[in-house]
Amino acid sequence: MKCPACKNTGKSDSKSDPGVSPAFEFRGRLGAKVIVRCLKCDGGVFIRMMPPGQKAISADQWRDLDAFWQLRRAEILADLQAWVEYGSDRPADQAVNESQTSFMGEAMRTNNLLYTARRAGYDTAESVSELLAHNRVEFARIALTSRQQQVIHDGYDRFLAQGGSPQSSRSMERIAGAGAALAGGDDAIQAFLMSGTS
Ligand SMILES: [Zn+2]
Repeated sequence: MKCPACKNTGKSDSKSDPGVSPAFEFRGRLGAKVIVRCLKCDGGVFIRMMPPGQKAISADQWRDLDAFWQLRRAEILADLQAWVEYGSDRPADQAVNESQTSFMGEAMRTNNLLYTARRAGYDTAESVSELLAHNRVEFARIALTSRQQQVIHDGYDRFLAQGGSPQSSRSMERIAGAGAALAGGDDAIQAFLMSGTS
């Protein structure tokens, strides 16, 4: 695909070739359109499948879509940190409510997660269960990569206006911590997830 704004070109799917730097970052969908960020000009692009086409996202809409994605990404990371800390039976006040009106089918999410795990070198069912059992932080990093590519943006303006979904005070703190970690990059994300294990 090609960025309509800066003519940056790259592959039109989320699979990157080893040794080739990706040209676009996949972020999820708004209705039937796929949203990507151009890594060269930092602008947003809608991709339509039928009929195939690409369109630059206006600066105003992109500012809001990006703000919503950053919010969702912090919620996803906070949720994963709570999972690292408590596993799937986290106490109710530690659950992170997610600002997303619809979710991809569970099977699609699982496929994407397994695909992401395979690309990270975990290519057998055994190695994935091993990872789940013994290295939750690594699994959470893989899940973050997978889930941040699949954010459903429908209703983004309403969620932005209300600052996201209602949260318990503990979850608000966790989301704030996640947002700071995301701004700090890979090492900060790793440290944030590790802090759930102590
Ligand atoms: Zn561009």
